Amino acid sequence: MNATFALLPGDGIGPEIVAQARLVLETVARSYGHVFTFTDHLVGGIAIDETGDPLPASTLEACRAADAILLGAVGGPRWSDPSAKTRPEAGLLRLRSELGLYANLRPVVTHDQLIDASPLRPEIVRGTDILFVRELTSGIYFGPSHESDDGTVVSDGMQYSIPEIERIIRVAGDAARRRSGKVTSVDKANVLAVSRLWRTTADRIMAEEYPELEFETQLVDAMAMHLLSRPRDFDVVVTGNLFGDILSDEASMLPGSLGLLPSASLGDNPPGLYEPIHGSAPDIAGTGRANPLATISSAAMALRHSLDLDAEADAVDRAVGQVLDDGTRTSDIARGGPAVTTAEMGAAVAAAIT
Ligand code: NAD
Repeated sequence: MNATFALLPGDGIGPEIVAQARLVLETVARSYGHVFTFTDHLVGGIAIDETGDPLPASTLEACRAADAILLGAVGGPRWSDPSAKTRPEAGLLRLRSELGLYANLRPVVTHDQLIDASPLRPEIVRGTDILFVRELTSGIYFGPSHESDDGTVVSDGMQYSIPEIERIIRVAGDAARRRSGKVTSVDKANVLAVSRLWRTTADRIMAEEYPELEFETQLVDAMAMHLLSRPRDFDVVVTGNLFGDILSDEASMLPGSLGLLPSASLGDNPPGLYEPIHGSAPDIAGTGRANPLATISSAAMALRHSLDLDAEADAVDRAVGQVLDDGTRTSDIARGGPAVTTAEMGAAVAAAIT
């Protein structure tokens, strides 16, 4: 297969971790007889420095033309002046909305080899394997804002339309069919009207289109507790933009390190956007201490979701498991033991691709 990846390394540790994901993709291409082409583009703070725009037109154009987009991270103290006209994160938000990437998929899987890194007891987290499906382009982050004339009262509106809810519930249902077959929809239907629309729509779509799946609804406050007390009971968890933002970050602590968790943002049409869930980690940028596994696992999601290369994606996931089995650790997961550098970890995963 011939495929093009648009690489958007961004800021901080972004270039270091994307370089390792690229190395792994190049190894996959060689091992499985594919031709992958990589093009590099500016996004975030570095794009502001060089062009004045966190998402230059040339970057957006290259992303539209690619089969998949692999992003590192954006932002850092250099660009965090609150009075600045534009911010690095604006580039990422615009990229998601320009490409219609309404479905954010975040798998949260605990690795047995790292079970002691979790802040929760091993008997609670062992075996956790949840896929969060978060609605990404609507809800309160995109609703109407209002400020009173004197600035003392401000509101942000949470709104969803029936088609917006239907399409994200279908993403969750389709994913559950490929997994253990359970969907949990999370809302706040006891208080919010928008959540009652979410719930009736989710109930209808699941009953009409996915009758064979196990389906339940949870209130968001109860779900925040269940994630810490019985995370293994959940398979696919689908929810709106705000609740998904908070719950998926809460769940990201279950495996013990931010440096392990990938994500995919998908729309109805290609390309998908793949990125680690962590930020640009300016505190360790340039030190060789960044863990590239979340970005490498994001590349595996790109192979699976954008290129339909399941065997190749499985090979990358297996290679990540293999290096962890072998005891290879970057400093964030080494617990004071010997640690390898970002490049050494990338090379170890590439060498484990079979
Ligand atoms: P962060 O995720 O960058 O870092 C939090 C902590 O985790 C830091 O101690 C960091 O060293 C560590 N860490 C993160 N990724 C790691 C990795 N791969 N390997 C080892 N350690 C890792 O969050 P932050 O410090 O709150 O934010 C830093 C900057 O990143 C901010 O400008 C923020 O706006 C931005 N940010 C960007 C994204 C994105 O690009 N999607 C997401 C979150 C934050």
